[in-house]
Amino acid sequence: MAVARGFGFVILASVLAAAPRKALIVDGQNNHAWQQTTPVLKKQLEATGLFTVDVATAPPKGADISGFKPDFAAYDVVISNFSDFGGGSVWPPATQAAFEKFVSGGGGFVSVHAADNAFPQWTAYNEMIGVGGWMGRDEKSGPMVRWRDGKVVHDTTPGKGGHHGRQHAYQVTAREPRHPILRGLPPVWLHATDELYDSLRGPAKNMTVLATAFSAKDTGGTGEHELALMTLTYGKGRIFHTILGHNVEAMNCTGFAATFQRGTEWAATGKVTQRPPKDFPGPDAAARKP
Ligand code: ZN
Repeated sequence: MAVARGFGFVILASVLAAAPRKALIVDGQNNHAWQQTTPVLKKQLEATGLFTVDVATAPPKGADISGFKPDFAAYDVVISNFSDFGGGSVWPPATQAAFEKFVSGGGGFVSVHAADNAFPQWTAYNEMIGVGGWMGRDEKSGPMVRWRDGKVVHDTTPGKGGHHGRQHAYQVTAREPRHPILRGLPPVWLHATDELYDSLRGPAKNMTVLATAFSAKDTGGTGEHELALMTLTYGKGRIFHTILGHNVEAMNCTGFAATFQRGTEWAATGKVTQRPPKDFPGPDAAARKP
């Protein structure tokens, strides 16, 4: 009996220690297949055992969005799979204000792929994502940010912000390998076929470049080491920004999944407790599915 009671206590203690964090994925508009990708994001977060995940789906493009008011304050971290690219809806002012209050007050935010195309005119949002692309962004939005000669460089050359060459598999290189999100992962890994955003622009304040990817000219890129993974702070809030994840196939790469899972935990808690997955890709190996 004593053994059984002791075992029960251990189980109770570990359940209490692992009380899940609350995550909210926001979608409903995106020039990407959010109906397919949100379930992938949800499943990846739930697979960690660290999160319960809700989804807030905004009304479709062209519909009245004034009633779209997710209860951000009820969550530890908000993941955006939303973009108003192509004539979509800007969130109502009260929703923008609630989101700013949530993040600046210490909430976590994760920007996935095209979420950094959204809201070019919303100043606070652009400070949260650091850099973004398309939707009229240009030198007035801020510098392009590149990795040159071992350091982050702000490039103020005038021009449009946001571009990508043709989709291909590419290497991602850790630039802050001791950051909790990257600790224990390979210094270079081959990411699955995906878009490689380049020439993103923005205020780029309070931003740490975790990883970059070389945008080769022969795939229609810039010949620069472009941003792949970033962290930012906004007030007391923590943000993880991944440019990876154009579609389900790209998201099914363990390189995407593990950095998304770890980045979301870091945004929610400031720590990463997940072990690096055994099937995380190396520099040459084709990325395997989890
Ligand atoms: Zn895309």
